[in-house]
Amino acid sequence: MDKKFLDAMPVVLHLQSSGYDTYFVGGAVRDQLLGKEIWDIDIATAAKPDEVTELFDKVIPVGIDHGTVLVRYGGESYEVTTFRIDGEYNDFRHPEEVEYVSSIEEDLSRRDFTMNAIAMGKDGQIIDPYGGQEDIRAQKIKTVGSPDERFQEDPLRMMRAIRFVSQHGFELTDGTYSAFDQWKHLLSHIAIERIAVEFEKLFNGHELNKAWTLLVDSNLYAHLPILNESPQLMNSTKTIKWIPLNDLAEVITVFHILKPEISIDMWVKHWKLSNRIKRKSLTLVNAWDLWQNSKEKQCLYLLGEDHIAAFYRVLSTLNTHFDQDIKELFKAHHSLPIHSRKDLKVDGNDIKGWFPNEKPGPWIKRFMESVEELIINGELVNDSLEIKERVTSWNPHELN
Ligand code: ATP
Ligand code: MG
Repeated sequence: MDKKFLDAMPVVLHLQSSGYDTYFVGGAVRDQLLGKEIWDIDIATAAKPDEVTELFDKVIPVGIDHGTVLVRYGGESYEVTTFRIDGEYNDFRHPEEVEYVSSIEEDLSRRDFTMNAIAMGKDGQIIDPYGGQEDIRAQKIKTVGSPDERFQEDPLRMMRAIRFVSQHGFELTDGTYSAFDQWKHLLSHIAIERIAVEFEKLFNGHELNKAWTLLVDSNLYAHLPILNESPQLMNSTKTIKWIPLNDLAEVITVFHILKPEISIDMWVKHWKLSNRIKRKSLTLVNAWDLWQNSKEKQCLYLLGEDHIAAFYRVLSTLNTHFDQDIKELFKAHHSLPIHSRKDLKVDGNDIKGWFPNEKPGPWIKRFMESVEELIINGELVNDSLEIKERVTSWNPHELN
C-alpha cells in the first residue's frame, strides 16, 4: 500500500473501530492500481457527517449538504464522504438532495466511471462491483451503468471522460462515446466553474493531443463558451502538437494569440476565471508581443523567473520549430542587469527631485520605464549618477 494510504490509515481505522464501515475510494485507488503517483486521498464511510465530526478534533464542513467533511489529521486533509446516492439533478448543478445509504456497493453505483468506482478497505481488500479493474487493464473508460442515464443526470461527466483520456491515455468504450452525441448539448446547463476545473485538468494531461482531438471531433466544444464560436479555429488546433499546459492562464494565452479578436477579458468573463489567471495571462500575452518584436531581454524581464517556464510552454505550443532549451531562457534572464524595479538605483522620487519645477504626472512613470528599458538593453548603467545625467537631458513635456 502506498505511503499516502498508510498516512491516512488512522482516520479509516478510527471510523472503522467506532462501528462505521469505511473505505478508500476514487482517484487514489484507481491510481494505485495503475501504478501512478497518488495525490489526494478520498474516504467513504457509513458514518454521517455529524458522526464524523464527533470523532475527530479538526473537521471542516466543506460540503456538508452532500455528506462531505474535511478531516485534518497529521498535517493532511482528507475528504470524508458518507455513503450516498444522488437524488434528482434538476438544475444540472448538484443533485437536489442526496440520500445516505448503508453500503459501499450502493455508494459506488453513483460514481461516474468503472475505474473510479473501486473501493479499498483497511487490509487492502478491493471492492469492485462494476469491473473497474478489468477496464483499467483494458485501458477503457466506461460509465457505471447506462451512459445515457449517467450523462443525462450529470453532463459534466462527458468533460470528465475526456480529461481522463488526457490523463491516462485510455479509450472511451464505444457505448460511452456514442452517448455524447445525444447529451452533449446539456453541457451548456453546467456551471462554467465546474467545466473549467475539468478543462484545466484536460490541459495538464500527457495525452492531451488525443483528448483534444476527441473534444473537437465529438463536437463537445460546441457547447463550451467561446470555443463554440470558433469552429474553424477548433479544426485548425487539431494539427497543433499540444504540450501539457499548467493552468488556464496558459491555455487562454494560446487561444488569444491564435484568435486575437477574443480578448483575455472575454475569456475571463465567460469562463469566470480568477484575477490571478487574468494577470498571469496578460503578462504572457505582453511577453509574447515583446518576443515577436525581438525584444527578448525585455520579454524575460517582464516575465520574471516565475513565469519563464509558462512562457516556454506557450512558445513551444505555438511554434513547432522553436527548439531553444528552456535553460537558455533562464540563463538569459539571470544575466539581465536588473530583475525588477526594486533593483534600480533610483526611484520615482529621485526623478521628481531632478525636475523641481515640474508638476508630478505620468511623465515620471514614462521616465522610469525608459530608464528600465535602457538598463535592460545594456544601453545605460544602473548607477544613480549615470541615470541622473541621462534623465536630466530629457524633457518631461516630450514623449521620449
Ligand atoms: P483526480 O485524480 O483528478 O482527483 P478523481 O477520480 O479523484 O481524479 P475527483 O474529481 O477528485 O476525481 O472525484 C473523486 C471521485 O468522486 C471520482 O473518482 C468519482 O468516483 C467521484 N466523482 C467525482 N465527480 C463525479 C461526477 N460528476 N459524477 C459521478 N461521480 C463523480
Ligand atoms: Mg480526487
